Amino acid sequence: MNAPVAQAIVGAPVGIEIRDVTHRYGSNGVSGGVVALDHINLTIRPNEFHALLGPSGCGKSTLLYLIGGFIPVQEGSIETPRGVVAGPGPERGIVFQNFALFPWKTVRENVLYGMEKQRLPKAERMDRAQAMIDLVHLTGFENAFPSQLSGGMQQRAAIARTLAVEPEILLMDEPFGALDAQTRRVMQEELRAIFERTRKTVVFVTHDVHEAVFLADRISIMSARPGRIQHVIDVDLERGVSEEVMKRPAFMDLSEQIWGLVREQAIAATRGAH
Ligand code: ADP
Repeated sequence: MNAPVAQAIVGAPVGIEIRDVTHRYGSNGVSGGVVALDHINLTIRPNEFHALLGPSGCGKSTLLYLIGGFIPVQEGSIETPRGVVAGPGPERGIVFQNFALFPWKTVRENVLYGMEKQRLPKAERMDRAQAMIDLVHLTGFENAFPSQLSGGMQQRAAIARTLAVEPEILLMDEPFGALDAQTRRVMQEELRAIFERTRKTVVFVTHDVHEAVFLADRISIMSARPGRIQHVIDVDLERGVSEEVMKRPAFMDLSEQIWGLVREQAIAATRGAH
């Protein structure tokens, strides 16, 4: 009877096991070069919002791209319930900082694009695209081109495109880094709301302490190069509108505490850059 195996794969909550991952750039993968990640061990729990936090250059994006399968794992292993990561897969969706939309396609066409490889009837693809466009509050902008949209709207379209494929794991590489402060806040609130509704496993790269504390259930603080996991912190705060949440003593205290931990790494990273 094969069914239990299939069920285990389809129905299992998805987490990510990162075991002893070391990554070097500019070498033969075994020695020399720049050590970007040094023996990373981390379990991302199923359906949690996990932030990777640390100074620029500490290896956050490298770890995210390894999970995504965009760069090959050199040492160690990364595993999801779908198996050991050996390349990109539809169960792992990624959102980049710079939106990565096709400028010659409309919002609807961009969202449909991700689903092209899935063998779904056209009507179902259209329905799902509309549902995702509605989810990210772009209703009415289906036929607009990216150049006609603000940065925040472009990023919403990019999120809709990634979610349309229904990935179990959502990888986000400083997705709001190119947005102005106000738009960023709105997008953070919307992302947390989307997360509450869809409950994916999210890995979110940021160097912004407030963003990490506002969004994440757990935060991994990474050290300056070579990147290591220094601390894993649970965030157990009441959620809500960012203006209110960010003023609460519990939010400010935790942010202060985390900033204290990140600060040392930020200083080390600055020194390392000279
Ligand atoms: P972060 O996302 O934390 O800013 P990255 O993962 O982008 O860090 O980079 C980690 C380190 O690896 C940095 O020192 C960076 O310069 C180096 N690095 C990243 N990509 C490459 C590459 N393609 N070739 C060589 N070095 C790289």
